[in-house]
Amino acid sequence: MQKKRNRTEYMKIWRKNNRDKIIKSRIEWDRKNPEKVRAMKKRYRKVHPNSLKDWRKKNPGYDSMWRDNNRDKMSKAYHKHWEKTKNNPIRILKDSARGKANHKYSLKNKICEICRNAPAKHRHHPNYNNPLQIILCCLDCHRVLHNPALAEQIKGRQQKWKVENKWQLI
Ligand SMILES: [Zn+2]
Ligand SMILES: [Zn+2]
Repeated sequence: MQKKRNRTEYMKIWRKNNRDKIIKSRIEWDRKNPEKVRAMKKRYRKVHPNSLKDWRKKNPGYDSMWRDNNRDKMSKAYHKHWEKTKNNPIRILKDSARGKANHKYSLKNKICEICRNAPAKHRHHPNYNNPLQIILCCLDCHRVLHNPALAEQIKGRQQKWKVENKWQLI
């Protein structure tokens, strides 16, 4: 028993004195086992579904700062995505519909057709086969169009926006 405790104590001190070594070997292991790391992260997210959300709340602005500091990574990822999808017929259909709608409908001085509370910043295509049939909407309403579950969360924000910005109908 005594021996066991001694060993635990010893390991504790060793870990404290060799922190760099431990971190280094951990990073090394992560690099060698990307599949396992991915599975571990997935498991963690399942047990703690709000962890990322909470972390972002505690570190506001981190994401945009990261994007600013890693522009090369961002553009690389964008190009990779573009290369991968450039021959995808759905992608081609969407791009062409967006191009036609952008050309035909300006967003200048337009208000959101759904809430009529905020400036229109987006063009939503209910059906990409009708490229000129679009809904001009704000970001929040656009998010609700794609994910109706967000409606409650966004309702309050639009009201607040209206009060703060005193939006006038044009
Ligand atoms: Zn709206
Ligand atoms: Zn849309």
